[in-house]
Amino acid sequence: MPKKLLPSFLAACALLASVTVAAQTVTDIPLPDVTVNPKPAAAQATVQNTAEAANKLPTAEEIAAERARLERMRAALAAERAALEQYKADLVKRQQAAAAAAAKANAEADAKAAADAKAAGSAASIPPPPKDDPVSAKTLSPEELQRQRQLAIERAKAIEKAIATQKAADAKKAAAAQTTSPKDKDVAAMKLRKITQNKVRYVHLRDVAVNYGLTFAYTKKNNKVSGATIYDKTRKAVFSISGRDGTVNGVQVYFLYPMLIKNNEPYISEVDFLTCLDPLLRYKTPVKLGMKTIMIDAGHGGTDPGAVNGSHKEKVYTLQIAKRLQTQLEKLGFRVIMTRTGDTYPTLQDRAALCKKYKPDLYISIHCNSATSKTPAGIETYRAVPVGGTETKGSKVKTEKQSANEFDANSSRLAYEIQKGMIAATKGTDRGTRHQAIYVIGNAVCPAVLVEVGYLSNADEVKKIASPDYQNKIVSGILAGLAGYGSFLR
Ligand SMILES: [Zn+2]
Repeated sequence: MPKKLLPSFLAACALLASVTVAAQTVTDIPLPDVTVNPKPAAAQATVQNTAEAANKLPTAEEIAAERARLERMRAALAAERAALEQYKADLVKRQQAAAAAAAKANAEADAKAAADAKAAGSAASIPPPPKDDPVSAKTLSPEELQRQRQLAIERAKAIEKAIATQKAADAKKAAAAQTTSPKDKDVAAMKLRKITQNKVRYVHLRDVAVNYGLTFAYTKKNNKVSGATIYDKTRKAVFSISGRDGTVNGVQVYFLYPMLIKNNEPYISEVDFLTCLDPLLRYKTPVKLGMKTIMIDAGHGGTDPGAVNGSHKEKVYTLQIAKRLQTQLEKLGFRVIMTRTGDTYPTLQDRAALCKKYKPDLYISIHCNSATSKTPAGIETYRAVPVGGTETKGSKVKTEKQSANEFDANSSRLAYEIQKGMIAATKGTDRGTRHQAIYVIGNAVCPAVLVEVGYLSNADEVKKIASPDYQNKIVSGILAGLAGYGSFLR
Protein backbone atom coordinates (compact mmCIF):
# COMPACT_ATOMS: atom_id res chain seq x y z
CA MET A 1 0.00 0.00 0.00
CA PRO A 2 1.50 3.40 -0.92
CA LYS A 3 2.31 5.46 2.16
CA LYS A 4 0.29 8.49 1.08
CA LEU A 5 -2.91 6.46 0.78
CA LEU A 6 -2.60 4.84 4.20
CA PRO A 7 -3.81 7.84 6.30
CA SER A 8 -6.94 8.25 4.20
CA PHE A 9 -7.67 4.57 4.49
CA LEU A 10 -7.26 4.76 8.26
CA ALA A 11 -9.50 7.83 8.32
CA ALA A 12 -12.13 5.89 6.45
CA CYS A 13 -11.85 3.08 9.00
CA ALA A 14 -12.22 5.59 11.85
CA LEU A 15 -15.25 7.05 10.15
CA LEU A 16 -16.78 3.63 9.80
CA ALA A 17 -16.11 2.91 13.48
CA SER A 18 -17.65 6.20 14.68
CA VAL A 19 -20.78 5.74 12.62
CA THR A 20 -21.09 2.17 13.87
CA VAL A 21 -20.82 3.30 17.51
CA ALA A 22 -23.52 5.96 16.93
CA ALA A 23 -25.83 3.38 15.40
CA GLN A 24 -25.29 0.99 18.30
CA THR A 25 -26.02 3.78 20.78
CA VAL A 26 -29.48 4.18 19.33
CA THR A 27 -30.43 0.55 18.83
CA ASP A 28 -28.70 -1.27 21.69
CA ILE A 29 -29.43 0.93 24.70
CA PRO A 30 -33.04 0.36 25.95
CA LEU A 31 -34.99 3.60 26.11
CA PRO A 32 -37.03 4.20 29.32
CA ASP A 33 -40.82 4.12 28.94
CA VAL A 34 -41.71 7.74 28.15
CA THR A 35 -45.45 7.22 28.95
CA VAL A 36 -45.31 7.70 32.71
CA ASN A 37 -48.26 6.15 34.57
CA PRO A 38 -49.97 9.04 36.48
CA LYS A 39 -51.52 6.51 38.89
CA PRO A 40 -48.79 4.32 40.38
CA ALA A 41 -49.91 0.92 41.68
CA ALA A 42 -49.49 1.99 45.32
CA ALA A 43 -51.83 4.98 44.80
CA GLN A 44 -54.46 2.81 43.06
CA ALA A 45 -54.46 0.39 45.97
CA THR A 46 -54.92 3.28 48.36
CA VAL A 47 -57.91 4.61 46.41
CA GLN A 48 -59.46 1.13 46.33
CA ASN A 49 -58.97 0.76 50.07
CA THR A 50 -60.41 4.21 50.58
CA ALA A 51 -63.56 3.23 48.58
CA GLU A 52 -63.99 -0.01 50.52
CA ALA A 53 -63.89 1.93 53.74
CA ALA A 54 -66.27 4.65 52.49
CA ASN A 55 -68.42 4.58 55.61
CA LYS A 56 -65.47 4.85 57.84
CA LEU A 57 -64.01 8.35 58.39
CA PRO A 58 -60.19 8.45 58.33
CA THR A 59 -58.41 9.65 61.35
CA ALA A 60 -56.26 12.80 61.28
CA GLU A 61 -53.14 10.59 61.50
CA GLU A 62 -54.32 8.49 58.56
CA ILE A 63 -54.94 11.64 56.41
CA ALA A 64 -51.53 13.05 57.27
CA ALA A 65 -49.83 9.72 56.43
CA GLU A 66 -51.70 9.50 53.12
CA ARG A 67 -50.68 13.07 52.20
CA ALA A 68 -47.05 12.37 52.99
CA ARG A 69 -47.12 9.19 50.87
CA LEU A 70 -48.64 11.11 47.91
CA GLU A 71 -45.96 13.83 48.25
CA ARG A 72 -43.21 11.21 48.12
CA MET A 73 -44.78 9.70 45.02
CA ARG A 74 -45.01 13.11 43.31
CA ALA A 75 -41.34 13.78 44.08
CA ALA A 76 -40.34 10.35 42.68
CA LEU A 77 -42.34 11.02 39.53
CA ALA A 78 -40.72 14.45 39.05
CA ALA A 79 -37.28 12.91 39.48
CA GLU A 80 -38.12 10.23 36.93
CA ARG A 81 -39.27 12.88 34.43
CA ALA A 82 -36.15 14.97 34.98
CA ALA A 83 -33.97 11.90 34.41
CA LEU A 84 -35.82 11.18 31.19
CA GLU A 85 -35.32 14.77 29.95
CA GLN A 86 -31.66 14.51 30.78
CA TYR A 87 -31.41 11.24 28.88
CA LYS A 88 -33.09 12.81 25.84
CA ALA A 89 -30.74 15.80 25.96
CA ASP A 90 -27.69 13.52 26.29
CA LEU A 91 -28.86 11.41 23.39
CA VAL A 92 -29.18 14.47 21.12
CA LYS A 93 -25.72 15.62 22.22
CA ARG A 94 -24.18 12.26 21.48
CA GLN A 95 -25.86 12.09 18.09
CA GLN A 96 -24.66 15.59 17.21
CA ALA A 97 -21.11 14.77 18.34
CA ALA A 98 -21.14 11.55 16.29
CA ALA A 99 -22.50 13.43 13.26
CA ALA A 100 -19.85 16.15 13.62
CA ALA A 101 -17.07 13.55 13.92
CA ALA A 102 -18.45 11.65 10.95
CA ALA A 103 -18.64 14.84 8.88
CA LYS A 104 -15.07 15.77 9.80
CA ALA A 105 -13.79 12.29 8.99
CA ASN A 106 -15.84 12.34 5.75
CA ALA A 107 -14.34 15.64 4.69
CA GLU A 108 -10.80 14.49 5.48
CA ALA A 109 -11.29 11.10 3.84
CA ASP A 110 -12.87 12.69 0.77
CA ALA A 111 -10.11 15.27 0.40
CA LYS A 112 -7.44 12.62 0.81
CA ALA A 113 -9.19 10.09 -1.38
CA ALA A 114 -9.74 12.69 -4.10
CA ALA A 115 -6.05 13.66 -4.01
CA ASP A 116 -4.92 10.04 -3.96
CA ALA A 117 -7.39 8.98 -6.61
CA LYS A 118 -6.25 11.89 -8.78
CA ALA A 119 -2.73 10.56 -8.46
CA ALA A 120 -3.99 7.07 -9.24
CA GLY A 121 -6.06 8.37 -12.13
CA SER A 122 -9.35 7.12 -10.78
CA ALA A 123 -10.93 10.18 -9.13
CA ALA A 124 -14.22 9.48 -10.89
CA SER A 125 -14.68 6.14 -9.10
CA ILE A 126 -14.93 7.71 -5.58
CA PRO A 127 -18.60 8.30 -4.65
CA PRO A 128 -19.35 11.90 -3.63
CA PRO A 129 -19.91 12.73 0.07
CA PRO A 130 -23.54 13.11 1.26
CA LYS A 131 -25.13 16.32 -0.05
CA ASP A 132 -26.98 17.23 3.18
CA ASP A 133 -24.95 18.69 6.00
CA PRO A 134 -25.04 16.27 8.97
CA VAL A 135 -23.62 18.91 11.34
CA SER A 136 -26.65 21.20 10.99
CA ALA A 137 -29.11 18.35 11.50
CA LYS A 138 -30.25 18.37 15.11
CA THR A 139 -30.75 14.63 15.30
CA LEU A 140 -30.06 11.74 12.97
CA SER A 141 -32.60 9.01 12.42
CA PRO A 142 -31.37 5.40 12.49
CA GLU A 143 -32.15 5.28 8.75
CA GLU A 144 -29.98 8.34 8.13
CA LEU A 145 -27.16 6.86 10.20
CA GLN A 146 -27.49 3.60 8.30
CA ARG A 147 -27.37 5.53 5.02
CA GLN A 148 -24.23 7.39 6.11
CA ARG A 149 -22.67 4.18 7.26
CA GLN A 150 -23.38 2.64 3.84
CA LEU A 151 -21.85 5.68 2.12
CA ALA A 152 -18.80 5.41 4.35
CA ILE A 153 -18.45 1.73 3.42
CA GLU A 154 -18.69 2.63 -0.27
CA ARG A 155 -16.12 5.36 0.15
CA ALA A 156 -13.81 3.00 2.01
CA LYS A 157 -14.21 0.49 -0.84
CA ALA A 158 -13.49 3.19 -3.39
CA ILE A 159 -10.40 4.22 -1.46
CA GLU A 160 -9.26 0.61 -1.35
CA LYS A 161 -9.84 0.42 -5.10
CA ALA A 162 -7.81 3.61 -5.56
CA ILE A 163 -5.07 2.08 -3.45
CA ALA A 164 -5.13 -1.05 -5.60
CA THR A 165 -5.02 1.08 -8.76
CA GLN A 166 -2.10 3.04 -7.37
CA LYS A 167 -0.37 -0.21 -6.44
CA ALA A 168 -0.83 -1.57 -9.96
CA ALA A 169 0.45 1.71 -11.43
CA ASP A 170 3.50 1.56 -9.13
CA ALA A 171 4.17 -2.06 -10.11
CA LYS A 172 3.89 -1.15 -13.79
CA LYS A 173 6.23 1.78 -13.29
CA ALA A 174 8.73 -0.44 -11.45
CA ALA A 175 8.56 -3.02 -14.24
CA ALA A 176 9.09 -0.32 -16.83
CA ALA A 177 12.02 1.05 -14.81
CA GLN A 178 13.75 -2.31 -15.12
CA THR A 179 13.74 -2.15 -18.90
CA THR A 180 14.35 1.58 -19.21
CA SER A 181 17.07 2.01 -16.68
CA PRO A 182 16.93 4.99 -14.38
CA LYS A 183 20.74 4.69 -14.34
CA ASP A 184 21.17 5.70 -17.99
CA LYS A 185 23.10 8.93 -17.51
CA ASP A 186 24.19 11.45 -20.06
CA VAL A 187 27.89 10.76 -20.64
CA ALA A 188 28.61 14.50 -20.66
CA ALA A 189 27.18 14.76 -17.15
CA MET A 190 29.42 12.04 -15.72
CA LYS A 191 32.29 12.98 -13.45
CA LEU A 192 35.23 10.88 -14.64
CA ARG A 193 38.88 11.28 -13.73
CA LYS A 194 41.03 11.28 -16.85
CA ILE A 195 44.73 10.88 -17.63
CA THR A 196 46.78 10.83 -20.86
CA GLN A 197 49.35 8.12 -21.54
CA ASN A 198 51.24 7.80 -24.85
CA LYS A 199 48.89 10.39 -26.42
CA VAL A 200 45.85 8.27 -25.54
CA ARG A 201 43.26 9.66 -23.16
CA TYR A 202 42.04 7.28 -20.46
CA VAL A 203 39.11 7.40 -18.06
CA HIS A 204 39.12 6.05 -14.52
CA LEU A 205 37.32 2.71 -14.57
CA ARG A 206 36.07 2.90 -10.99
CA ASP A 207 34.41 6.24 -11.85
CA VAL A 208 32.83 4.63 -14.90
CA ALA A 209 31.43 1.85 -12.69
CA VAL A 210 29.98 4.37 -10.22
CA ASN A 211 28.20 6.27 -12.99
CA TYR A 212 26.47 3.12 -14.25
CA GLY A 213 25.68 1.82 -10.78
CA LEU A 214 28.10 -1.07 -11.25
CA THR A 215 30.47 -2.81 -8.85
CA PHE A 216 34.19 -2.77 -9.60
CA ALA A 217 36.55 -5.71 -9.00
CA TYR A 218 40.00 -6.72 -10.13
CA THR A 219 40.42 -10.06 -11.88
CA LYS A 220 43.49 -12.09 -11.02
CA LYS A 221 45.50 -14.76 -12.76
CA ASN A 222 48.22 -16.64 -10.84
CA ASN A 223 47.82 -14.16 -7.98
CA LYS A 224 48.55 -11.22 -10.27
CA VAL A 225 46.09 -8.57 -11.41
CA SER A 226 45.16 -9.53 -14.97
CA GLY A 227 42.29 -7.17 -15.53
CA ALA A 228 39.11 -5.79 -14.07
CA THR A 229 35.39 -6.44 -14.04
CA ILE A 230 32.51 -4.03 -13.64
CA TYR A 231 29.13 -5.61 -13.07
CA ASP A 232 25.66 -5.69 -11.59
CA LYS A 233 22.87 -8.29 -11.77
CA THR A 234 22.28 -7.89 -15.50
CA ARG A 235 25.47 -6.38 -16.93
CA LYS A 236 29.09 -7.42 -16.81
CA ALA A 237 32.14 -6.11 -18.66
CA VAL A 238 35.59 -7.67 -18.33
CA PHE A 239 38.80 -5.85 -19.32
CA SER A 240 42.28 -7.21 -19.82
CA ILE A 241 45.68 -5.67 -19.08
CA SER A 242 47.61 -7.94 -21.42
CA GLY A 243 45.45 -7.48 -24.52
CA ARG A 244 42.39 -5.83 -26.02
CA ASP A 245 40.17 -8.87 -25.70
CA GLY A 246 37.41 -8.46 -23.19
CA THR A 247 33.86 -9.63 -22.78
CA VAL A 248 30.54 -7.87 -22.31
CA ASN A 249 27.73 -10.01 -20.91
CA GLY A 250 29.62 -13.10 -22.00
CA VAL A 251 30.15 -11.95 -25.60
CA GLN A 252 33.74 -11.59 -26.80
CA VAL A 253 34.38 -7.89 -27.42
CA TYR A 254 37.68 -6.53 -28.72
CA PHE A 255 38.42 -3.14 -27.24
CA LEU A 256 40.64 -0.62 -29.00
CA TYR A 257 43.24 -0.51 -26.21
CA PRO A 258 44.22 -2.79 -23.33
CA MET A 259 43.25 -1.68 -19.86
CA LEU A 260 45.84 0.53 -18.14
CA ILE A 261 46.95 0.48 -14.51
CA LYS A 262 48.43 3.80 -13.39
CA ASN A 263 49.39 4.42 -9.74
CA ASN A 264 47.57 1.19 -8.90
CA GLU A 265 44.35 2.58 -10.38
CA PRO A 266 42.52 1.06 -13.41
CA TYR A 267 41.80 3.03 -16.60
CA ILE A 268 40.28 2.28 -20.01
CA SER A 269 40.76 4.44 -23.11
CA GLU A 270 38.25 7.24 -23.53
CA VAL A 271 37.47 6.18 -27.11
CA ASP A 272 36.69 2.66 -25.86
CA PHE A 273 34.50 4.10 -23.16
CA LEU A 274 32.53 6.30 -25.56
CA THR A 275 32.23 4.07 -28.64
CA CYS A 276 32.52 0.56 -27.20
CA LEU A 277 31.56 0.33 -23.56
CA ASP A 278 28.88 2.97 -23.02
CA PRO A 279 26.69 1.70 -25.92
CA LEU A 280 26.82 -1.82 -24.47
CA LEU A 281 26.06 -0.84 -20.86
CA ARG A 282 23.38 1.67 -21.78
CA TYR A 283 19.72 0.58 -21.83
CA LYS A 284 18.67 3.06 -24.49
CA THR A 285 20.55 4.81 -27.27
CA PRO A 286 21.18 8.49 -26.48
CA VAL A 287 20.32 9.45 -30.09
CA LYS A 288 17.08 8.56 -31.84
CA LEU A 289 17.64 6.37 -34.89
CA GLY A 290 15.26 4.14 -36.83
CA MET A 291 15.54 0.62 -38.27
CA LYS A 292 12.85 0.36 -40.92
CA THR A 293 15.06 0.09 -43.99
CA ILE A 294 17.90 -2.40 -44.00
CA MET A 295 20.54 -2.69 -46.70
CA ILE A 296 21.95 -6.20 -47.12
CA ASP A 297 25.28 -6.55 -48.85
CA ALA A 298 26.15 -10.03 -50.12
CA GLY A 299 29.96 -9.97 -50.25
CA HIS A 300 31.88 -10.44 -53.51
CA GLY A 301 30.07 -11.78 -56.65
CA GLY A 302 30.59 -12.06 -60.38
CA THR A 303 34.27 -11.88 -61.22
CA ASP A 304 35.17 -11.81 -57.50
CA PRO A 305 34.52 -15.26 -55.95
CA GLY A 306 35.85 -14.23 -52.53
CA ALA A 307 37.36 -17.09 -50.52
CA VAL A 308 37.50 -20.42 -52.29
CA ASN A 309 37.86 -23.94 -50.88
CA GLY A 310 37.66 -26.48 -53.68
CA SER A 311 34.25 -26.07 -55.24
CA HIS A 312 33.06 -23.84 -52.40
CA LYS A 313 32.96 -20.16 -53.27
CA GLU A 314 32.30 -17.42 -50.76
CA LYS A 315 30.25 -15.33 -53.25
CA VAL A 316 27.68 -18.16 -53.53
CA TYR A 317 27.06 -18.55 -49.82
CA THR A 318 27.02 -14.84 -49.03
CA LEU A 319 24.24 -14.38 -51.60
CA GLN A 320 22.29 -17.41 -50.33
CA ILE A 321 22.43 -16.12 -46.75
CA ALA A 322 21.64 -12.55 -47.87
CA LYS A 323 18.53 -13.77 -49.71
CA ARG A 324 17.37 -15.84 -46.75
CA LEU A 325 17.79 -12.79 -44.53
CA GLN A 326 15.93 -10.63 -47.05
CA THR A 327 12.97 -13.04 -47.07
CA GLN A 328 12.72 -13.11 -43.29
CA LEU A 329 13.09 -9.34 -42.88
CA GLU A 330 10.44 -8.65 -45.50
CA LYS A 331 8.11 -11.09 -43.75
CA LEU A 332 8.61 -9.03 -40.61
CA GLY A 333 7.72 -5.86 -42.48
CA PHE A 334 11.17 -4.36 -42.99
CA ARG A 335 12.07 -2.60 -46.22
CA VAL A 336 15.10 -4.39 -47.63
CA ILE A 337 17.54 -3.10 -50.23
CA MET A 338 20.09 -5.54 -51.68
CA THR A 339 23.44 -4.41 -53.06
CA ARG A 340 23.22 -7.40 -55.43
CA THR A 341 20.63 -10.07 -56.13
CA GLY A 342 22.55 -12.20 -58.66
CA ASP A 343 26.06 -13.27 -59.51
CA THR A 344 27.29 -9.76 -60.27
CA TYR A 345 30.10 -7.68 -58.88
CA PRO A 346 29.23 -4.20 -57.77
CA THR A 347 32.54 -2.57 -56.77
CA LEU A 348 33.06 -1.56 -53.14
CA GLN A 349 32.55 2.06 -54.26
CA ASP A 350 29.28 1.05 -55.97
CA ARG A 351 28.07 -0.55 -52.75
CA ALA A 352 28.97 2.51 -50.68
CA ALA A 353 27.26 4.72 -53.26
CA LEU A 354 24.08 2.62 -52.95
CA CYS A 355 24.12 3.22 -49.21
CA LYS A 356 24.52 6.97 -49.69
CA LYS A 357 21.72 6.96 -52.28
CA TYR A 358 19.11 4.97 -50.35
CA LYS A 359 20.13 6.07 -46.85
CA PRO A 360 19.05 2.85 -45.10
CA ASP A 361 18.71 2.74 -41.31
CA LEU A 362 21.17 -0.18 -41.06
CA TYR A 363 23.78 -1.76 -43.28
CA ILE A 364 24.69 -5.44 -42.94
CA SER A 365 27.46 -6.95 -45.07
CA ILE A 366 27.72 -10.74 -45.24
CA HIS A 367 30.99 -12.60 -45.72
CA CYS A 368 32.74 -15.90 -45.03
CA ASN A 369 36.19 -16.01 -43.46
CA SER A 370 39.32 -17.72 -44.71
CA ALA A 371 42.80 -18.41 -43.36
CA THR A 372 45.98 -20.04 -44.66
CA SER A 373 45.78 -22.47 -41.74
CA LYS A 374 42.87 -24.90 -41.71
CA THR A 375 42.49 -24.63 -37.96
CA PRO A 376 40.68 -21.31 -37.37
CA ALA A 377 36.92 -21.57 -36.96
CA GLY A 378 34.18 -19.37 -35.64
CA ILE A 379 32.15 -16.22 -36.12
CA GLU A 380 33.18 -12.55 -36.09
CA THR A 381 31.33 -9.25 -36.45
CA TYR A 382 33.12 -6.10 -37.58
CA ARG A 383 32.40 -2.44 -37.35
CA ALA A 384 34.31 0.61 -38.54
CA VAL A 385 37.36 1.73 -36.55
CA PRO A 386 36.52 4.76 -34.41
CA VAL A 387 38.78 7.82 -34.79
CA GLY A 388 41.56 7.56 -32.22
CA GLY A 389 41.28 3.76 -32.18
CA THR A 390 43.21 1.01 -33.88
CA GLU A 391 42.27 -2.01 -35.96
CA THR A 392 41.88 -5.21 -33.98
CA LYS A 393 44.69 -6.64 -36.11
CA GLY A 394 47.14 -3.74 -36.06
CA SER A 395 48.32 -0.81 -34.00
CA LYS A 396 48.08 2.16 -36.37
CA VAL A 397 45.81 4.81 -34.90
CA LYS A 398 42.98 5.96 -37.17
CA THR A 399 43.01 9.76 -37.55
CA GLU A 400 40.62 10.43 -40.43
CA LYS A 401 36.93 10.44 -39.82
CA GLN A 402 34.62 8.46 -42.12
CA SER A 403 30.86 8.81 -42.59
CA ALA A 404 30.22 5.67 -40.48
CA ASN A 405 32.04 7.23 -37.50
CA GLU A 406 28.91 9.33 -36.88
CA PHE A 407 27.30 6.05 -35.84
CA ASP A 408 30.13 4.38 -33.88
CA ALA A 409 28.04 3.88 -30.73
CA ASN A 410 25.07 2.36 -32.57
CA SER A 411 27.34 0.21 -34.78
CA SER A 412 29.02 -1.09 -31.63
CA ARG A 413 25.70 -2.14 -30.11
CA LEU A 414 24.50 -3.58 -33.42
CA ALA A 415 27.72 -5.62 -33.79
CA TYR A 416 27.45 -6.87 -30.19
CA GLU A 417 23.78 -7.85 -30.55
CA ILE A 418 24.27 -9.62 -33.90
CA GLN A 419 27.38 -11.44 -32.67
CA LYS A 420 25.50 -12.54 -29.56
CA GLY A 421 22.55 -13.68 -31.69
CA MET A 422 24.67 -15.68 -34.15
CA ILE A 423 26.67 -17.42 -31.40
CA ALA A 424 23.48 -18.36 -29.56
CA ALA A 425 21.82 -19.65 -32.74
CA THR A 426 24.76 -21.67 -34.12
CA LYS A 427 26.65 -22.58 -30.90
CA GLY A 428 29.71 -21.65 -32.96
CA THR A 429 33.04 -20.30 -31.69
CA ASP A 430 32.78 -16.69 -30.55
CA ARG A 431 35.65 -14.81 -32.17
CA GLY A 432 34.21 -11.52 -31.02
CA THR A 433 33.21 -8.10 -32.24
CA ARG A 434 36.16 -6.42 -33.95
CA HIS A 435 37.27 -3.26 -35.71
CA GLN A 436 38.75 -3.15 -39.16
CA ALA A 437 39.18 -0.62 -41.96
CA ILE A 438 36.63 -2.20 -44.30
CA TYR A 439 35.55 0.09 -47.14
CA VAL A 440 31.80 -0.63 -47.22
CA ILE A 441 31.19 -0.30 -43.50
CA GLY A 442 33.53 2.68 -43.02
CA ASN A 443 31.72 4.58 -45.79
CA ALA A 444 28.20 3.66 -44.75
CA VAL A 445 25.87 6.53 -43.79
CA CYS A 446 24.18 4.56 -41.01
CA PRO A 447 25.12 2.03 -38.31
CA ALA A 448 26.94 -0.69 -40.23
CA VAL A 449 28.42 -4.11 -39.53
CA LEU A 450 30.11 -6.88 -41.47
CA VAL A 451 29.57 -10.47 -40.37
CA GLU A 452 32.00 -13.32 -41.03
CA VAL A 453 29.71 -16.31 -40.63
CA GLY A 454 32.46 -18.94 -40.48
CA TYR A 455 35.72 -20.16 -42.03
CA LEU A 456 35.51 -21.50 -45.55
CA SER A 457 39.07 -22.73 -45.07
CA ASN A 458 37.98 -24.99 -42.21
CA ALA A 459 36.82 -28.44 -43.34
CA ASP A 460 34.01 -28.67 -40.77
CA GLU A 461 32.78 -25.14 -41.16
CA VAL A 462 32.70 -25.13 -44.96
CA LYS A 463 30.23 -28.04 -44.83
CA LYS A 464 28.08 -26.13 -42.38
CA ILE A 465 28.20 -22.87 -44.33
CA ALA A 466 27.03 -24.72 -47.44
CA SER A 467 24.03 -26.21 -45.60
CA PRO A 468 20.59 -24.53 -45.57
CA ASP A 469 20.28 -25.47 -41.87
CA TYR A 470 23.37 -23.49 -40.83
CA GLN A 471 22.47 -20.61 -43.14
CA ASN A 472 19.02 -20.43 -41.50
CA LYS A 473 20.66 -20.45 -38.06
CA ILE A 474 22.88 -17.54 -39.10
CA VAL A 475 19.79 -15.69 -40.33
CA SER A 476 17.83 -16.33 -37.12
CA GLY A 477 20.90 -15.18 -35.13
CA ILE A 478 21.03 -11.92 -37.10
CA LEU A 479 17.27 -11.46 -36.58
CA ALA A 480 17.68 -11.99 -32.84
CA GLY A 481 20.50 -9.43 -32.93
CA LEU A 482 18.26 -6.95 -34.74
CA ALA A 483 15.58 -7.49 -32.11
CA GLY A 484 18.14 -6.79 -29.37
CA TYR A 485 19.33 -3.71 -31.21
CA GLY A 486 15.71 -2.61 -31.66
CA SER A 487 15.11 -2.71 -27.89
CA PHE A 488 18.17 -0.48 -27.48
CA LEU A 489 16.69 2.20 -29.75
CA ARG A 490 14.73 4.99 -28.13
ZN1 LIG B 1 34.63 -11.78 -47.98
